[in-house]
Amino acid sequence: MRVFFSTGLAVLLLATAGAITANPQVCGANAEKAPELEKAGDPAAAIWCYGLSNHWASIVALQNKVIPSAYAKVGAGNYAIIISNVARAHLELKNLGAGRRALEAGMRQLMNTPQVVETAYNLVGLFRDETMRFAERQRWHGLLMLAMKQPRPAFQLADIFTNNVYFGVYQGIKEKKIPGAFALARDAVTHHDADMLKHWGFMRDIVQIQYLALGQEVKPNVAKRRLRMLFVVVADTKLTNAHPTHGNVDARLAETDLQELLTNFRLFSSAFQALTGIAWESKIMRHPGAVRQTTYVSDPPRSVMHPVMTSIEPAFSPAIQREIASSDGVVLVWAGTRQPPGHLITNGSGTEYGFPINGKTVHRLLVISDSNKKFLDGNHANSALFFFHEIFHVLEWAYYKSPFPVAEHSYARRELWPADYTGSTEWDFYRETITKRLMREDSLNRLEWRSNHAGFHNRKVKGE
Ligand SMILES: [Zn+2]
Repeated sequence: MRVFFSTGLAVLLLATAGAITANPQVCGANAEKAPELEKAGDPAAAIWCYGLSNHWASIVALQNKVIPSAYAKVGAGNYAIIISNVARAHLELKNLGAGRRALEAGMRQLMNTPQVVETAYNLVGLFRDETMRFAERQRWHGLLMLAMKQPRPAFQLADIFTNNVYFGVYQGIKEKKIPGAFALARDAVTHHDADMLKHWGFMRDIVQIQYLALGQEVKPNVAKRRLRMLFVVVADTKLTNAHPTHGNVDARLAETDLQELLTNFRLFSSAFQALTGIAWESKIMRHPGAVRQTTYVSDPPRSVMHPVMTSIEPAFSPAIQREIASSDGVVLVWAGTRQPPGHLITNGSGTEYGFPINGKTVHRLLVISDSNKKFLDGNHANSALFFFHEIFHVLEWAYYKSPFPVAEHSYARRELWPADYTGSTEWDFYRETITKRLMREDSLNRLEWRSNHAGFHNRKVKGE
């Protein structure tokens, strides 16, 4: 957007993309002239000046002089800019609820005008708020679905819409409002997939998984067979070897992060069942021991750090060992690394592991969790897509003779995808490979570990 003043100090808007440019003649270099504008009866212009100089508290002080009355005076385009500035001021002052109230008031006034889509620039933080209840998420969803019917040449509102759906579905699950949560994801996937892709492919992929998973939960297909996943929680890390080069190890797994991981496994498994008809049952066992050693591989600009399974002390109890033997896979949940700024450390992995049980080596799927990382941090770790990602590493071994790109992380090399694949993202790659290749080949019948075979990796190595 580009904004300038006409002689009468009314604000004019040219609705073109671009940054708001400062206007020192009108505002002063640091909004020194804003109080004069305010006294001259033009709080709208004053707000614009304060916004250019990040004087957020001054904007909030003027809010009641402009909302709702300034609309009639300055017109829809300039009013939209005022709304965006007032909401932004609350966001900068970390008063998210007040920011949303100002935005909602303005959007409702402008709802039948094309300018409604100009009310929410750089406001996505207002919707990254774990305190929002599901009812508020639903209200915003309805409001945004309506506003987004106006022309949006630059995908306006896509960012707040996508975030509201993504967090809204999680909140709906938390409040056990599954049909309502499903409805949010369904609207988003059906009507606004391009908007979500434009905002952030990762978040769009999660909403796609939410949609598939909750659709399965609302209207279940009958499982044709069941796999078993055992979550083994090793909450403590007490290293005997040196700390990693970057960052620090977290000594203790946060319970809330474990709960997030379990919610994301639920989404993974429901979506997996929707695609394949195969259900995952899960069970949690807590091991009162500690990870004592890690591997650490520097792979700039990131590093990879995994727990050394044999360093876990004391060893798993006979009860946990029995449960591992009667499961197909194990998710080892550990605290991992405190993420240092500017350097990504990956703690998660998907592989197979030979557990020593009763003098035998029992090969099982092993997923290692990616540590204390929250989705609110915008991190990919521990998401429902993470489970697909890690388990896909093992599917690449299980189907290594099959006609799909089995090189590691083929999802990231779009040019290598088969010609009949139509998507573009990581999730698209998994979904299309499962439905267009694996299901057609053997309905994923080979996928199981409980018959105690040697593991897919060993089969691949032997060329079996
Ligand atoms: Zn990977």
